Amino acid sequence: MKVGGMEQRLRREAAALLEQGKVDLIIGFADGSLKFTTSPLITSDKDDASRLVINPFIANNLSVFLTGVKGRVGIVAKGCDSRSIVSLLQDNKLAREDVFIIGVPCSGIIDLTKVENLVGRDRDEIDDIVRDGDKVTVTVAGKASEFAARDVLFDNCLACELPTPQEYDLLLGEPTPAADDESKAASQEKINRFKAMSPDERWQFWQNEFSRCIRCYACRNVCPACFCERCFVEEAEPTWVQPIPRWQDNLIFQITRNIHVAGRCTDCGECERACPVNIPLRSLSREMYDIVDGLFSYQAGRDKEAPPLLACYEATDVVDFIR
Ligand code: SF4
Ligand code: SF4
Ligand code: SF4
Repeated sequence: MKVGGMEQRLRREAAALLEQGKVDLIIGFADGSLKFTTSPLITSDKDDASRLVINPFIANNLSVFLTGVKGRVGIVAKGCDSRSIVSLLQDNKLAREDVFIIGVPCSGIIDLTKVENLVGRDRDEIDDIVRDGDKVTVTVAGKASEFAARDVLFDNCLACELPTPQEYDLLLGEPTPAADDESKAASQEKINRFKAMSPDERWQFWQNEFSRCIRCYACRNVCPACFCERCFVEEAEPTWVQPIPRWQDNLIFQITRNIHVAGRCTDCGECERACPVNIPLRSLSREMYDIVDGLFSYQAGRDKEAPPLLACYEATDVVDFIR
């Protein structure tokens, strides 16, 4: 089904769910206030269903809102979002009967920064961006240029193994294929550059990066795996990190955050996308994802019956301190 067809079906189904009292709220995407953006829409009004959109810019992982709302919720979920929902179910942060998952088979989200770099223009100067299968056409000052979709999608989308939600109550279209090897290799380029550095270079690299962190906590606040009611950074007794954003404390914040989301992170890419100073946070979170997979053959949000990774152990675990 084409994106337009999915959008029309979503609007009908969301209105019916609200009208029939099957859900109290719908969480989806509406057009954003800026070009080529969308914003989360949380509504109990069936008339708002006509504002719901599905397009190549539905970037947010909306599952982050599920722990903050009450009642039965219908939620629009791409593949990675549905895995985050499963992860929340595993952690008992949600009850399955309280969530109606409207699954969107996903073809990847367009990274506007990559588009800007390719056309050499700011997003405000771009007239249109149209995705059609493997091609993306960008129009600037009336002149259309065509690019491979692979060149303009977010890195995490290039690595996506489960773009179609596995857990859903309603699937809006036909399943989309997982990333191929070429795309996966492209998704690793930034991480591989960082891994090729010597330990001293790497230390200097992260020191420089986290010197720019303003500790806005956007990376934490958009992350569905960061659901603690009281984050360690807000503790006063003991004080784990100083409130002033020194690079040392910023680094401790991010290292600890990555350990806390190990086994819960679905590589949705939201932390890196949300960072206002463009720190390459996915180089940490994806590496942790791969380490978890390598050590425990565990990928977050694949099995709602599985115990959460950090809450269980097995006799075959590689380290034996817990046995
Ligand atoms: S990671 Fe996968 S499911 Fe998530 S937005 Fe990208 S392509 Fe879609
Ligand atoms: S989003 Fe970026 S700037 Fe804000 S706290 Fe996270 S790393 Fe720091
Ligand atoms: S750590 Fe980043 S990539 Fe992982 S779930 Fe959280 S926001 Fe998504």
